[in-house]
Amino acid sequence: MPLTVRARILQTPAPDRLEALEDAVLAVGDDGVIGAVEPAGSPAGAALLAGDPAVVTAPPGSVLLPGMVDLHVHAPQWPQLGTGLDLPLERWLFEHTFPLEARFADLAYARPVWADLVAGLLAHGTTTAVYFGTVDVAATTALAEAALEAGQRAFVGRVAMDHPEGTPAWYRDPSAAEGIAASARSIDEIRARDAGRGLVAPIVTPRFTPACTDGLLRGLGSLAARAGTLAQTHASESDWAHAQPLGRFGRTDTAALDGFGLLRRGTVLHHANHITDADAALIRARGAGVAHCPLSNAYFANAVLPVRRLLAGGLAMGLGTDVSGGASPSLLRTAHEAVTASRLLQDGVDRALPAAARGVPGSAIDTVLGFWLATLGGAGVLGAPVGLLAPGRRFDAVLVDTTSRRGSLRVYPELDSPARVLEKVVRLASPPDVLGVWVNGRRVVGG
Ligand SMILES: [Zn+2]
Repeated sequence: MPLTVRARILQTPAPDRLEALEDAVLAVGDDGVIGAVEPAGSPAGAALLAGDPAVVTAPPGSVLLPGMVDLHVHAPQWPQLGTGLDLPLERWLFEHTFPLEARFADLAYARPVWADLVAGLLAHGTTTAVYFGTVDVAATTALAEAALEAGQRAFVGRVAMDHPEGTPAWYRDPSAAEGIAASARSIDEIRARDAGRGLVAPIVTPRFTPACTDGLLRGLGSLAARAGTLAQTHASESDWAHAQPLGRFGRTDTAALDGFGLLRRGTVLHHANHITDADAALIRARGAGVAHCPLSNAYFANAVLPVRRLLAGGLAMGLGTDVSGGASPSLLRTAHEAVTASRLLQDGVDRALPAAARGVPGSAIDTVLGFWLATLGGAGVLGAPVGLLAPGRRFDAVLVDTTSRRGSLRVYPELDSPARVLEKVVRLASPPDVLGVWVNGRRVVGG
């Protein structure tokens, strides 16, 4: 069904630019593609309004935003969200995370969790999610089914990991060959479920190089090229995760991934906190990008990613919640955390140092840039035509009610300019304020 929506739009067409369209009309085609965005008072806008007897008119005080693009979600970690973050990474993985992920081979356990996760993220306005599934093919296919069922745009990856030193015997691929075959089967199954709708796509997903043998990494690089999929993995997340591949391969994690054919157009490198300038240039040259996960990084990364500097160098970047390494399912909250982390980097944190030696000047970002990362930045990494409400892009959108009083969001029209409204939405909006969510022109929350 074609759709016409009349609303106040707030969005960020560039990293440092807020666009406020006070009374706009959007026309969305049957295919979910936005055909036109016009001022309601213009002749073109009036014609769009007159041409549709069932215009969806957003209530006064509401704002329509492009949907959030979460570049990094570990789907099977949903049940442990909010816990375990004080442990070192290895203990967190072996004592909590791997045992939990292994449970999802039982589909009776997996299906209700998948459904709850997808609904939970949609309620927060996440219209596109890039998922790590589990090692199990059937469980990962069921995750793709859950996204399709709820109408969420998603990239779903079967997790490949076979290294006897980085993974437990009871939760890994038995061999590189079997891992590659399982990932190939997962790609076929997910494509069969999507059946050409273009909503849910497979993504080749080695967990991270320390968990994978060379043979598995090489085979997955070939598979991604052969099957024409995107790829994702963690890269140089912490001091250890940067140093370990450097010792093993004699080059950086990013350069090693490139050597295995895994640094492709649209590849998402998660965290990437310790990448070198040469790594950043290589990522850019390959058309890949980075998922910045500020909340998780505070616990596991040993450093703050210099977002402002990397963006200035042309690196493609978006945001990831990193459920459950990050303890919030909200990408708006994550944008706020990105701002907070950048401020700590700018000023530094050790008061024993003189102020001039404490931080990294020029590092601060604001909520406009945070929101851009959460929307168009992430879309750009994936090459997905979302993240902005503009002709030619898919209508993935979130309608936030700033008058609901159900959450903590409060807007005072006599005080709040569009820039302040966006600041408040980024810092304070939560599911009780969300009136509606659309993906590909279909309403999936509210209505
Ligand atoms: Zn992760």
